[in-house]
Amino acid sequence: MTGSPHLPDKVLVANRGEIAVRIITTLQRLGIGSVAVYHAVDAGSRAVELADEAVELPGNPPVSAYLNVEAIIDACHRSGAKAIHPGFGFLSERASFAEAVRDAGLIFVGPGTDAIRAMGDKIESKVLAARAGVPTVPGSTGAVDSVDAAIAVGEEIGYPLLLKASAGGGGKGMRVVNTADECREAFERATSEARSAFGDGRLLIERYIGRPRHIEVQVLGDHHGNVIHLGERECSIQRRFQKVIEEAPSPAVDDDLRAEIGARAVALAQAVGYYSAGTVEMILDENRNAYFLEMNTRLQVEHPVTEAVTGIDIVEEQLKIAVGESLSIAQADVKIRGSAIECRIYAEDADAGFLPATGRLHVVRFPSGDGVRVDHGVTEGHDITSAFDPMIAKVITHAPTRREAINRMHAVLNETVLLGTTTNREYLARVVATTAFGDGQLHTGFLDEHADELVRPNPTRSQENFVLAVGALHSSRFDRRHQLLEPHAGMAGWTSA
Ligand code: ADP
Ligand code: ADP
Ligand code: MG
Repeated sequence: MTGSPHLPDKVLVANRGEIAVRIITTLQRLGIGSVAVYHAVDAGSRAVELADEAVELPGNPPVSAYLNVEAIIDACHRSGAKAIHPGFGFLSERASFAEAVRDAGLIFVGPGTDAIRAMGDKIESKVLAARAGVPTVPGSTGAVDSVDAAIAVGEEIGYPLLLKASAGGGGKGMRVVNTADECREAFERATSEARSAFGDGRLLIERYIGRPRHIEVQVLGDHHGNVIHLGERECSIQRRFQKVIEEAPSPAVDDDLRAEIGARAVALAQAVGYYSAGTVEMILDENRNAYFLEMNTRLQVEHPVTEAVTGIDIVEEQLKIAVGESLSIAQADVKIRGSAIECRIYAEDADAGFLPATGRLHVVRFPSGDGVRVDHGVTEGHDITSAFDPMIAKVITHAPTRREAINRMHAVLNETVLLGTTTNREYLARVVATTAFGDGQLHTGFLDEHADELVRPNPTRSQENFVLAVGALHSSRFDRRHQLLEPHAGMAGWTSA
């Protein structure tokens, strides 16, 4: 190690929910003080409960509190924290935030401002990837600024095409078009949507790859030019271009392909002088060609599966890198052990088009045990509202084989109890139980393709309904059997998952 400056003795976490809890957990393990920031609606959250100190932030709507750069930096100064970890979402990929933190004399636990800026733009990052020798999805070079230019791209590379907002993220701002007419129709709307959602109307166009896998490579870089990769994650189980189930390693990636995509991800990170943790996302077509999609310059939602199979705490590495330490791990030290799967539990109705759900969580029970990790930020009595992202928890299982990791996941999902709001818990259990999932036959259209198989079976069998039934019996409503069969009728706040 060169220099090995000391880790800061106090770090502020500029986030909420499960990721704030997850970061605080590592801070505590390392003996570093933790400062949470929160909006009043999160006053009773687990992150606030766990942190050594908590500072309330003003803001209306609540989300604006977590985007209030001035108030966050002020909270950092007042609490005496020396560094800010941004988590993911919110301010994590705003170059101007990283800059403001550093200008205030604080450590930003993340990459350099230039890397955030360059990689936050899908058009610019694609150019940089191509220059670094990383194959990119065939499509437009640069922004497509008119309908005619879009039609010309279609003539050149053929349909279907994907219109993408250059500044988009979180699966938003994408539209598939199958014909020139559809393209003509969608172009203006996609542009104005991108402008209103991301403040930037520029679009790029790519060939829409059929039945692809989403494969991404976790990289770690330090301030001394060292970059390594921690293998890949597969995140092909998606709805609306958003990940729901992720795993490491990918059942589609062998040692040769891992070395190839790993080397490409490292080359790109090196080309942009990358430090901290980052993820190079790629799409794998049916002929196993991997194309660059984008680079996320932050901790990723699904980082726990990589931690499980490598034994590396990525947040700890980010903290060490942030204070200038050299990477303590060489590429040859990175070993992938066993198989890990993550399921994202969302407050949403998977049987009704994944409609977000709200409600008060009355009962929260997660199982624990060997090879089981649950990252969540909720407590009993916690209100799930539409103010924030509907992800409640992440369940991660790790086992020597993929089959065992799947079986464990199925058991954990079935043993988890979340009462008070509709969740996708049972749906996830059905997904991991399918033969196709077990066989590793994954692609990004998996959930649509298997929709029939994934329909909720007999709702009265669910755990929630069992509890409802017991509750109903206790309140002498034994004769009102329709309520047991149709819990949605007349039992507000106690809906089944
Ligand atoms: P990941 O890319 O880490 O796998 P997601 O794509 O779900 O996970 O994004 C992580 C979080 O960040 C989600 O809460 C998502 O809504 C949010 N997010 C990602 N990119 C953006 C963006 N450009 N604008 C707003 N929110 C974003
Ligand atoms: P975001 O910033 O929203 O995460 P990405 O470019 O990473 O955007 O794409 C998100 C998802 O959209 C991918 O995981 C994949 O399922 C789908 N996707 C993106 N580009 C393509 C493409 N060219 N062909 C097919 N699917 C794509
Ligand atoms: Mg992405």
